[in-house]
Amino acid sequence: MTAEPLMRMRLRVEQDIFVVRQLGREVARMVGLESQDQTRMATALSEVARVLLAAGLNAEVAFTVPAIGVPSLLVTMAHPDAGAAARITGQLRQVGRLVDTMEVDEGESRTVIRMSRRLPPGAPLLTPERMSEIRAGLSEHVPGTPLDELAVQNQQLIAALDEVRAQRDDLARLNAELEETNRGVMALYNQLSQELEETNRGVVALYAELDEKSAQLRAASEAKSRFLANVSHELRAPVTAIIGLGRLLTDSGSDELTVEQHRQVDLIRTSASDLLTLVNGLLDLAKAEAGRIEPHWSEVDLRAMFGQLRGTLRPLATRPEVDFVIEEPAVPALRSDEVLLAQVLRNLLTNALKFTASGSVRLSAAPAGSDIEFIVADTGAGIPPELHERIFEEFYQVPGSKPVSGKGTGLGLPYARRLAGILGGGLRVDSTPGTGSVFTLRLPVTS
Ligand code: ADP
Repeated sequence: MTAEPLMRMRLRVEQDIFVVRQLGREVARMVGLESQDQTRMATALSEVARVLLAAGLNAEVAFTVPAIGVPSLLVTMAHPDAGAAARITGQLRQVGRLVDTMEVDEGESRTVIRMSRRLPPGAPLLTPERMSEIRAGLSEHVPGTPLDELAVQNQQLIAALDEVRAQRDDLARLNAELEETNRGVMALYNQLSQELEETNRGVVALYAELDEKSAQLRAASEAKSRFLANVSHELRAPVTAIIGLGRLLTDSGSDELTVEQHRQVDLIRTSASDLLTLVNGLLDLAKAEAGRIEPHWSEVDLRAMFGQLRGTLRPLATRPEVDFVIEEPAVPALRSDEVLLAQVLRNLLTNALKFTASGSVRLSAAPAGSDIEFIVADTGAGIPPELHERIFEEFYQVPGSKPVSGKGTGLGLPYARRLAGILGGGLRVDSTPGTGSVFTLRLPVTS
């Protein structure tokens, strides 16, 4: 749909260049284009007019606001003959940069130049009433003299120069800010590098300290093991002597003791015997910790070993409520230290018998990947999950857990775990209070 033009004029003589320029600025102002766009449109118009007249072409100029599409000011300049485009198109290239669209259209009977500039989003709405108002205003517009136009152009040039200067100042300020930011970034970078370096130095120092501390710890642990081994060794002889003397005193060949004396000597003997167990345990552990246990590797016949365990531990499994089962091993043999392996299994089985009031205590052996697993499972008191690791600490006993039979020192499991390590494997527990415990010794089949 073509809207009724806001204004028309003819372009014929040089004087009309000023007229079209003024009119263009006025129309642009009235439809709501911003000040800079008004100047752009006016300049574009006067330039096109100059080119047309220089080429000897007159034209009909029309200012329109199309009724459809993006709101914009459209100016058409029509020359009544075809074939003019070739003469002017090249010269209008620069003008195109002042407007949004610019085209030279070669029709059959005329040549039309179209230029448009989009209205800004905040421009007042161009209702039919407003359009009539603009038309009335423009019809009263009296074109000024070329001198007036020169004054206006000068003012616009000054404003444009001012703006350029302001932009240059802005740019200089931005550059200064950027430089300052750069300096700040560099300073921060330097500071960070320095801090990093310092932190690194700190970490290195910390490592050195850690190394020193662990050397001290190792020395302290060795000293403790040495002390334990010496003291235990020195204690063994007198304790053994006490037990022997006690036996002598209660011997039938000795003088008759009163009932009370007999009771007291028995007390001395059992106390000494408990002490000997403790001393032996300490000595074993100290030896293992000091790395003084050297395994003797050989092919171990598991069936024979299981048979022996069955025989030696049967006397401990006296309660009829507890089934003592040593299964046939699913793996016939492995390369290990027979004595140490038997010691670990005996230790686990003794514990299981000690803490199981009814149900069963069971030993089995089965392959697990390329390893072998020895499993000692009981239906005894069980161990709370949070203590599963603590029971492997020296002297640790589960609070409130009383063995059904026998006594304990709290040294058996730490020793068993040490031996498992010496044999190239590991010892772990899985247990639920009230249900039972499963101790698993995992060893490689070949040492
Ligand atoms: P102890 O000489 O006291 O048996 P251990 O080091 O062998 O010392 O065991 C430490 C503690 O772990 C035991 O005192 C007991 O509280 C707990 N414990 C070990 N084995 C079992 C088991 N099979 N069932 C329940 N508790 C166990």
